[in-house]
Amino acid sequence: MQEAVLNVAINAPLSRLFDYLPPRHGAPGASPGCRVLVPFGRRRLVGLVMGVAASSDVPAAKLKHALDVLDPAPLLDDSDLELLSFVSAYYHHPIGEVVAAALPAPLRHGNPLLPLIREARLTASGAAVDLDTLTRKAPRQAALLAALRRAGGVATFAALDEAAPGWNRSRKSLEEKGWIEISERQDVSAVRAVSARQAGPALNAGQAAALEAISLDGGFEVTLLDGVTGSGKTEVYLRLIEAVIERGRQALVLVPEIGLTPQLVGRLEQRLGLAPAVLHSSLPDTERLAAWRAARDGSAPLVLGTRSAVFVPLARPGLIVVDEEHDSSFKQQEGLRYSARDLALKRGKALGLPVVLGSATPSLESLHRARDGEWRHLRLPVRAGGAAPPRLALIDLKRYPPEDGLSQPVQSAIERQLAAGGQVLVFINRRGYAPTLICEGCGALAECRHCDARMTVHTASGRLICHHCGASRRLDRTCAECGSDVTPLGHGTQRLESVLRRRFGEHGVARIDSDSTRRRGAMQKALAAAASGESRVLVGTQMLSKGHHFPDLALVCVVDADQGLFSTDFRGTERLAQSIVQVAGRAGREQRRGEVLIQTAFASHPFWAALLGGGYARVADAALEERRAAGWPPFSRLALLRASATDRDLPQRFLETAAAQARAEAVDAVRVLGPVDAPMARRAGRYRAHLLFQSANRRLLHRLLAALLPALEAEAGARRVRWSIDVDPIELF
Ligand code: ADP
Ligand code: ZN
Ligand code: ZN
Repeated sequence: MQEAVLNVAINAPLSRLFDYLPPRHGAPGASPGCRVLVPFGRRRLVGLVMGVAASSDVPAAKLKHALDVLDPAPLLDDSDLELLSFVSAYYHHPIGEVVAAALPAPLRHGNPLLPLIREARLTASGAAVDLDTLTRKAPRQAALLAALRRAGGVATFAALDEAAPGWNRSRKSLEEKGWIEISERQDVSAVRAVSARQAGPALNAGQAAALEAISLDGGFEVTLLDGVTGSGKTEVYLRLIEAVIERGRQALVLVPEIGLTPQLVGRLEQRLGLAPAVLHSSLPDTERLAAWRAARDGSAPLVLGTRSAVFVPLARPGLIVVDEEHDSSFKQQEGLRYSARDLALKRGKALGLPVVLGSATPSLESLHRARDGEWRHLRLPVRAGGAAPPRLALIDLKRYPPEDGLSQPVQSAIERQLAAGGQVLVFINRRGYAPTLICEGCGALAECRHCDARMTVHTASGRLICHHCGASRRLDRTCAECGSDVTPLGHGTQRLESVLRRRFGEHGVARIDSDSTRRRGAMQKALAAAASGESRVLVGTQMLSKGHHFPDLALVCVVDADQGLFSTDFRGTERLAQSIVQVAGRAGREQRRGEVLIQTAFASHPFWAALLGGGYARVADAALEERRAAGWPPFSRLALLRASATDRDLPQRFLETAAAQARAEAVDAVRVLGPVDAPMARRAGRYRAHLLFQSANRRLLHRLLAALLPALEAEAGARRVRWSIDVDPIELF
């Protein structure tokens, strides 16, 4: 009889599973969801068993045996595996790479689910040794014994590394003398306990209605919680989570990359009286694995994470929440280009769970489905606790030309706020000192040598840095072309920081962007200083605009909104409205009425009339109409085939072949647009182009992509082209 065949996903760029026979002997049976160690070419790799079949298409003589089974029980259950298979098919991405993206690094590398903790223990004879004598003969051995005695007779290897550096060298001799014993145990670290829970505020009518409407026992159902900033959405999530936990189930809450603040974690802990299992990419591997374990075994009632947490297995799932669902960080922009928001919906459907998407500025995709009645649309139109909405006003830069980036009305407003004891936020979505350097003689700009882009001036480090490829060079003093003086052009966060320090330094100026918060803990410190009021002038990027609550903040100044007005991307106005409304939402969350001043050189642009007259909803209406007319999403589906190479012509030729094939497949329902050069045609020394597929029919679009794949794989290898397929792209570059 033929042995069972394991269908194994292996982390390799090949769109298929690989068949293996079970290990020859001794190993436990491998069911789907277990990891196995397999021979792969000349390497041994960790793979995940996706299925077990009775037979294989591979001739029996060629089938190899797996070397070992790494998990006594499946890590993932059937629904988890189905999700992974779906992701591979939907995003046209190799299954092994999908599995790799879904597993925490230690598991991907074959480490045990429960890490082994190794300990040294003092024996009775070790405890009886006279340390003074030993210190003279063998000081290092004596130090180790002393450290163990101080630790109460037993210590982990990790603890000894701290307490007695170099101890490991004398370990053997002590073991031989019978003075210490080494043992191993599995780490079953439990969820951290937290102090008593605090009661929340009484819900207002809107919140109560939302809670009433969302059923936790009715299976899969999607709710868009469309509530202005500060309307109490988080409060609604909290009540839902409480109710889910009461039912003995788990809640999975997804937040944007930079939305996962200590403020939010603290609030959840205080209110729920438990520590959430937190999953995000900057955690140490062991912590992330511990959280993953707690989600999987059900010991964590609340799992809170960024994008990749959408894959985490849950023992008793009860609810999925996606906070700030419009946020672009839910979409991975490289490798496996998945949307965690979309997968949350998919997962909710598969598991029969309620899914709640929340935002003050919902994506047009979500808004459209909610308005169409496919999803429940709940609105929280006013701020909870009675704070008034912030007042938006335009500052026409043609009338009030800026000096040092700030117009006169903005400067006076800042002065007024600070004099009244308030706090001010100056928002500009550009880090660095200035976007580029210009020659005063010939007007030449500092270009990156590897990209079609300008280099950003960073005065702190005295360098020009390309924000697209990371290349950097010393700040030029004179123009390379004509020798004239050069000067920074435009404003970034650093330059505004120095302008603000000069004028308002005594009020405490803090800059918050990805440069200032790179060091561990720097972000927390800056936010704490902002929240306590120690820093009364905040200047920063998007990072400042999400989720934070600064009680005294009353004035927000948007320095340069115009970048978004003339974007070539069809999502340009949606993005601009989202970023302004989000940052405006930081203002006036408590007693002080919020004021938002927006500097623009195009005050009569219709976008402003829509935003100031009707808020985000009106901008969204207009944008949806435009998209309907042009057939852009959500009225169609897109997929983008990107290609790049160091040779200028290769990407175009590669894509032309793909386009020809796609057109030959001749599905009328799918439009094939291009190929065209990417908006930034050269980046990091590679030439880039893309081909866009557009269709109202998702099934046909996917069928076409699947049909193209084998040819692309063959063609690219021959032509040294890198390519990727981006399904539902959110950036067209
Ligand atoms: P959102 O998530 O929509 O931004 P939050 O839930 O964070 O809103 O609420 C904003 C602020 O209002 C918080 O300080 C919160 O404690 C408070 N708040 C929320 N709901 C109520 C309520 N029903 N009564 C009083 N204050 C509330
Ligand atoms: Zn010059
Ligand atoms: Zn560059």
